[in-house]
Amino acid sequence: MLLEKRSDGSEGPCLHEMINRAVEFHGHLGPFLVLGVRMGLLARRELFPMEDGEMKAVARTGNVPSLSCLLDGIQVSTGCTMGKGKISAEPPGVPEAEFSVHGRRVTIRAKDGIIEEIRSWRDRYASLEEIARSIQERSDDELFDLKSTKKVK
Ligand SMILES: [Zn+2]
Repeated sequence: MLLEKRSDGSEGPCLHEMINRAVEFHGHLGPFLVLGVRMGLLARRELFPMEDGEMKAVARTGNVPSLSCLLDGIQVSTGCTMGKGKISAEPPGVPEAEFSVHGRRVTIRAKDGIIEEIRSWRDRYASLEEIARSIQERSDDELFDLKSTKKVK
């Protein structure tokens, strides 16, 4: 995995490479796939799992595309896969997922404005790929609301 330096000085997996992997896995590039990748990378930075299999994800996306495309982005960027029993998809069908590592939790939700922009992508973009690339370039603050729960001892 290629690492890249971020603006805050930290190092992390290269976003472009991660999205390429997600596209290979999912079959096409779309905005919800990119949101899922970004969500998973943010969760990793918040919860810093040290080993494969430490993180679990519960997505509240349901399993109807295109919203559920988020699931594939999350699986690729976190390693929380269906096969490992580390991710589940639940109702009610919102762009939100809860991630946990050893009792530390973070809930990440895509902002309403972003979802609205995706739903009406034809107003501003020529293709779904174009809005996906645009979302890829934005900051976490622009994309997500985040709620952390510290472990209670
Ligand atoms: Zn998709």
